[in-house]
Amino acid sequence: MKKKDLETRLIHGNFERSRHYGSLAPPIYQTSTFVFDNARQGEARFSGEEEGYMYSRLGNPTVTEFEKKLADLEEGQEGIAFASGMGAVSAVLMHLMKSGDHVLVSEGVYGCTYSFLKMMKEKYNLHYDLISMSSEEVIQREIRPETKILYVETPINPTMKLVDLEMVIKTARKNGLTVVIDNTFCSPYLQQPLKLGADFVIHSATKYISGHGDVIAGAAVGPAEHMQEIRMTTQKDIGAVLGPFDAWLLLRGLKTLAVRMDRHCENAAAIFKELKDHSKVKNVIYPGDPAFEDFELAKRQMKKFGGLISFEIDGGKEAAQDFMDQLKIVKTAVSLGDAESLIQHPASMTHAIVPEEERIEMGINDSLVRLSLGLESSDDIWEDIEQALNSTFSN
Ligand SMILES: *Cc1c(COP(=O)(O)O)cnc(C)c1O
Repeated sequence: MKKKDLETRLIHGNFERSRHYGSLAPPIYQTSTFVFDNARQGEARFSGEEEGYMYSRLGNPTVTEFEKKLADLEEGQEGIAFASGMGAVSAVLMHLMKSGDHVLVSEGVYGCTYSFLKMMKEKYNLHYDLISMSSEEVIQREIRPETKILYVETPINPTMKLVDLEMVIKTARKNGLTVVIDNTFCSPYLQQPLKLGADFVIHSATKYISGHGDVIAGAAVGPAEHMQEIRMTTQKDIGAVLGPFDAWLLLRGLKTLAVRMDRHCENAAAIFKELKDHSKVKNVIYPGDPAFEDFELAKRQMKKFGGLISFEIDGGKEAAQDFMDQLKIVKTAVSLGDAESLIQHPASMTHAIVPEEERIEMGINDSLVRLSLGLESSDDIWEDIEQALNSTFSN
């Protein structure tokens, strides 16, 4: 039988309903621990002789449902849920690296991933370099004998620059390196790096996977042998585990991922068209813009162009902040992928920790704002943006 399409698997997955009284939705196992029938069963569970749950930091049935579903969607062997995206990033990197190792990271990587790597370098002798990853030659030049990992985010926030995953994976294979992709901005609906040959995929499930702005969560999918080791070490002993109710919210969110992503992407396309013609808006950055430097790559690599747009407000920081304050439907907040359209000012918010010079070099000036399109009507979103632009520039 043909493997069901992603849209169908998002909804049906492989939930074993008969083991749960036929419950349509997965139950929430809100429990810290599991009672053994007898002491010998406890012994058998801990020794691994008998399968079963023991204690919710080591595993919980609701969390397992989410892990199985995400692994299936990313077409990987095994998934693990974490208390946050950073829980997943840190657990995977600490599992893969040992003192003295080196990782190459695509520049512009998520701020906390960057500060995690910085801390690991200063305290634990793990090394990294941020590089552009624009071609095989550029990557090849930076590979050292101690290099173990290529760590990639694509598209990058907020400049939307893409990295060619096929090229990165090919380069890694030639050099015996492990490829880790942060797939948060795309979700498995727009991009499935493991199918291209990447080794690990990481998500901040806080974003599109949840989709409703009500949970902080993370996940990683990769080879079973590695994931089992992560489960027994950097997950179990550091302890960034997901709670059962949060896992249930993610399972609920996943059911509508495809329809939500379609709307996020449609809204971004519609708002891009309006923004690029507005006289007070400059440098609109959107992967679906035929004039965008990575447009061809985006077309090839992503199913659609995503739900994010960055643009500059004519008039610098003052004007950008005034504009944000005039918005009514679009809310000023960091995060992305929620039902609500959200706008943020990278230079003073998500990228405030990056030194100004580096920030400017990355293309993040004080005029730049980043918009995450929500699920509202695009007409209403545009009306809101237009009135905010008009009132910003009327006085
Ligand atoms: C938000 C985010 C993270 C961190 O996830 P949390 O759930 O906030 O810990 C990591 N990577 C990317 C690309 C993100 O957007």
